[in-house]
Amino acid sequence: MDDSGELKDEGRSAIEVLDRAKAVYLGLAIGDALGATTEFMTPAEIKAKYKVHKKIIGGGWLYLKPGQVTDDTEMSLALGKALLATACWDIKGIADNLLAWMRNKPVDIGATCRRGIRDYMLKGQLEVPYNEWDAGNGAVMRMAPVALFTLGEAGLLEEYAIAQAHLTHNHILSDAACLAVGKLVHEAILGADRFRLHEITRELVAEYRSFRFNNYQGNASAYVVDTMQTVFHYLFSTASFEECLVGVVNQGGDADTTGAIAGMIAGAFYGLDAIPARWLKVLKKEVRAEVEDQALRLTKLSPWAKQNH
Ligand code: MN
Ligand code: MN
Repeated sequence: MDDSGELKDEGRSAIEVLDRAKAVYLGLAIGDALGATTEFMTPAEIKAKYKVHKKIIGGGWLYLKPGQVTDDTEMSLALGKALLATACWDIKGIADNLLAWMRNKPVDIGATCRRGIRDYMLKGQLEVPYNEWDAGNGAVMRMAPVALFTLGEAGLLEEYAIAQAHLTHNHILSDAACLAVGKLVHEAILGADRFRLHEITRELVAEYRSFRFNNYQGNASAYVVDTMQTVFHYLFSTASFEECLVGVVNQGGDADTTGAIAGMIAGAFYGLDAIPARWLKVLKKEVRAEVEDQALRLTKLSPWAKQNH
């Protein structure tokens, strides 16, 4: 990772920040589209079939078209759309949009997300009760729009990250991972170097030792600890957006979601120009347009935008 060209003291220009915001959301969609091909495969199976999987070709257990995304991107877009509709935090609006999305027969939906959205539909419940089995990664994968909407204000990030998470997942490790991902995205957009990003992960590990990733064991399941260890391992052991995502998705397991989460953080850190053109080109046109549009509009509603204009 080489971040030496970036401004450090005065921070980034507004144009650069908006570009990074786009890279966050595009990174999410690209990681999702790339990783969906190898979701639920083992590294050995991936190697036997692709040597190294690095093209957005669709397929996978969902039989996707090349450039098609899954629930990770779609739930994020549903959440972002609710924020843009009123330009303020609206947890009921988010729940309504997730419900509308679920009714629309999505290509994929996680069991915990389905249960949470169904509870909202049946009982109007906006927060699922604490559940020790809710430690999946389904809330973390929706963090991109929340991070952009709260850019520049850590307190707001904290409040909204937890609120959106608890629509479907109420678990201390899921909460901690949501906050860490939001923080990493915030600080990377605004110019943090890799040492600072590593420090954020160390703060998480200090609080919850299970997130330790210095002796990565290769588990990439949907358990939020496995997911975050995979993302952190490849984020800090690679030197480009492309290398990071390729590493993550070739680990298999919940590859679309590890890809999506790694894509957000790596997008924020490496920026728009670091995203391979061949990946951008294949990403479904309507998805790319909506992702870019939401990224700009959400960031323009953020506390950062109010402080900088
Ligand atoms: Mn998915
Ligand atoms: Mn997944």
